[in-house]
Amino acid sequence: MTETEDDALRREMVATCRAMNASGINQGTAGNVSIRNDRGFLITPSSLPYDVMQPDDVVQMDFDGSYEGARRPSSEWRFHRDILQARTDVDCVLHCHSVYATTLAVHHKEIPSFHYMTGLFGGTTIRCARYATFGTQALSDAALEALKDRTACLLGQHGQIALGKSLAAALAGAIEVETLSRLYVQALVLGEPPVLDDEEMARVIRQMRNMSYGQAPDLEGVNDTARKRA
Ligand code: 13P
Ligand code: ZN
Repeated sequence: MTETEDDALRREMVATCRAMNASGINQGTAGNVSIRNDRGFLITPSSLPYDVMQPDDVVQMDFDGSYEGARRPSSEWRFHRDILQARTDVDCVLHCHSVYATTLAVHHKEIPSFHYMTGLFGGTTIRCARYATFGTQALSDAALEALKDRTACLLGQHGQIALGKSLAAALAGAIEVETLSRLYVQALVLGEPPVLDDEEMARVIRQMRNMSYGQAPDLEGVNDTARKRA
């Protein structure tokens, strides 16, 4: 039997979850992952350890909240559904409880433009969503608000969410959010660091877009100082 596109996506979901925990940005059964498909979206099952999770355990959901499969969908299906519905610029949502991002989130602290890489997520800050109980519509509403014009946010007293066009991009984004969070927490030891102003961040974001920075290699050599030899 030939593998369908959905079978491949399900396998990629399991691999992404295992890579998420192996990278150190998540622990145990915390976190969840989703990807858009032609019937709605695929989402990880609730509370199933990633090392035992199999492609068949991934749950098919519709945007109306109905699902099929033997497992219950992640308790956070509402924010996955709402983000995928509202954000047609992305196809994947990854949520995790990474330690440094959550350290900032327990203090309801957003990540400012203390480092230019903050711009990778679309703006001068990575916002922190207000606290709401896990699994609720209130958490989904708060997350969508914090993600406006951004591809990542922190979740107050909870964790973080990263978005991407692919599962690999969403995972890379979450790892970058964690790295920035760790840098920021360390920088705070010496006091609140200075930030890059809005004009400079606008330049950084423009430069990142021109170069597909952090998303894909600059194969065309778009900047005028480095050209790929013929
Ligand atoms: P699930 O196991 O239901 O996906 O929940 C994990 C989590 O991180 C809730 O916010
Ligand atoms: Zn969570």
